[in-house]
Amino acid sequence: MSIRYKVILPYLLLTLIVAVTGVYVVTRLVSNSLQERLTNQLLEAGRVVSDDFARQEIAHIEMARLVAYTSGLAEALQENNRAEVAQLTRPVASGVNIELVILVDRQGVETLHLSRAQDGSLVEQSEASGIANTPIVQDLLAANDPQAAPRRMLAYSPQQNGYYYFSSLPIELDNQLAGVVVVGTSFDTILPYLKSTSLADVILYNESGKALAATLPGAIDLSGLSISADEFRQVVEARGNIGGENFELEGRWYSLARSPLRVGNDQLGAFAVILPLDFVLQPGAVSRNNYILLFGAAMIGVVAIGYGISRLLINPIYALVRASQAITAGDLNQRTGVRSGDEIGVLANTFDEMTANLQQRTLELERANQTLAQMDKTKSSFIQVAAHELRTPLTLLSGYAQLLDIQAKKNHELEGISKGLLEGSARMQEVVNSMLDISKIDSKTLAALPEKTSLLAPMKRVEKTFASAWEERNLKLVTDGIGKLPLVYADPDLLYKMLYHLVMNAIKYTPDGGTITIRGEIHPEENQVEIVISDTGIGIDHEHQDLIFEKFYQTGEVQLHSSGRTKFKGGGPGLGLAIARGIVEAHGGKIWVESPGHDEETNPGSAFHVVLPLDKHLRQ
Ligand code: ADP
Repeated sequence: MSIRYKVILPYLLLTLIVAVTGVYVVTRLVSNSLQERLTNQLLEAGRVVSDDFARQEIAHIEMARLVAYTSGLAEALQENNRAEVAQLTRPVASGVNIELVILVDRQGVETLHLSRAQDGSLVEQSEASGIANTPIVQDLLAANDPQAAPRRMLAYSPQQNGYYYFSSLPIELDNQLAGVVVVGTSFDTILPYLKSTSLADVILYNESGKALAATLPGAIDLSGLSISADEFRQVVEARGNIGGENFELEGRWYSLARSPLRVGNDQLGAFAVILPLDFVLQPGAVSRNNYILLFGAAMIGVVAIGYGISRLLINPIYALVRASQAITAGDLNQRTGVRSGDEIGVLANTFDEMTANLQQRTLELERANQTLAQMDKTKSSFIQVAAHELRTPLTLLSGYAQLLDIQAKKNHELEGISKGLLEGSARMQEVVNSMLDISKIDSKTLAALPEKTSLLAPMKRVEKTFASAWEERNLKLVTDGIGKLPLVYADPDLLYKMLYHLVMNAIKYTPDGGTITIRGEIHPEENQVEIVISDTGIGIDHEHQDLIFEKFYQTGEVQLHSSGRTKFKGGGPGLGLAIARGIVEAHGGKIWVESPGHDEETNPGSAFHVVLPLDKHLRQ
């Protein structure tokens, strides 16, 4: 995963967690406070409704008292003088906005039934209201106490065709109960008042939970609003508001709380206050939306800042990665281009400096290499020129040496001189030939004339070439498996030359009495043959094992004196292995040496491995 994602993803995740937690907490807070507000408003509305009833009760008692204490009324009632009762009551009742007043005498007979008509006038009803039979009158009559506390109830009035809130009060005459006065206010008056003061819709229930009236908008089925007797009992027992009940009405949601309706000692029924949910939820939703918007914007901001920071941090790293990749691919001109002063900036600067140094060194090395290549070229052309220039006089010299040798047959005094001359010129011939070979290898003009040939023939030839050396130096030559090797596709003369140099080296670097082994192996899987020329000689240190294949490279002291070419540690121009490698490579093969190291005491020996490809078609 890219470092950018390693930085951004955890950051995004963290931001998301914080944002989600934030939104959750805020939404919870908002909805909790909304719920609280709703409950409080329902409580407040309920309290107002209770207070309104208390106020209504006070107004009723005042009105009832005015009627009860009207002078002469108690007497007229006792005398059952209906006309007098009506005459006395009417002015009092009209003065104080009474909607309904009923007078019952001591015997429980309804004497007067006055009600206010639509036009505001008081009308005497001929029909009895029937209220004389209700507990609020019967109980007062039964108590027979002129000081008894007033009573009240909610009841239906068939004459007025509506529900009323009634209050009853005893009428006293000479400390005796003379009758009962009942005043009533219609729900049509009370309910709009309740609604306007409590700012909530109201439902009134009777003592069995039946909904009597409601202010809810539209045509409401009141029976649908009623509650069961059980629910009613719960409301009464709870004594406070039972709130939180939500319901839908004509596509609008409301929350409702119920309270018992109690005035003095009378349990009149119960009421419910109702608030539309959107009344509180809408502002809540607005503030929640605002919070979500705010959080959304904050999150975008946080993500943008995070992205910016990550870019600031990661871009220099990217620049470093790009530069290092370009440099690995060889473009040393590449720089990071990071200019910041922080740790990454320091790292990038150091990296740029390193690259600049590397570029400088590479340039120097390239120059040195060019010089060396130029020098090598000069050396190669010198070798070539020298070899060619030496060739003619050398031919002349060996010609004269041979002539002198013929003379020496007759004149024995010349024998030593001619032998020295012949050996010297032969050695020189050999050096010059080596120089010519190496210049051909260098200029890649070594002409190989490949043919289907065996390795046994060149090996036999080499064995013969060094016949005197085996004897003189008491060396043992062991050959193993060469005869069994398949034919190879190679230049037999070059194969001989390669074996010649390797065997000559083995002879030169093996003390007298040692063994030189030439072993042949076939590797059919790789389609190759391998020849290993190993000796029991002085060995070669690891540090030289690659370098000895370079021309003129010698590990020991340079001994270019005229010691014999097969003498122990005899001198040489340092070209043998370079020629051997040139020949092997010209045949598509490989050459290397294995040796535990150089030691002239223990003679660990060396093994030169030559691998030649075996043409499939030439395999036997
Ligand atoms: P030289 O003319 O010196 O023999 P070569 O190219 O043949 O040049 O060999 C290079 C050097 O490798 C030698 O000078 C010698 O130090 C080392 N060398 C080559 N063959 C052997 C060997 N068989 N044992 C130990 N050292 C060897």
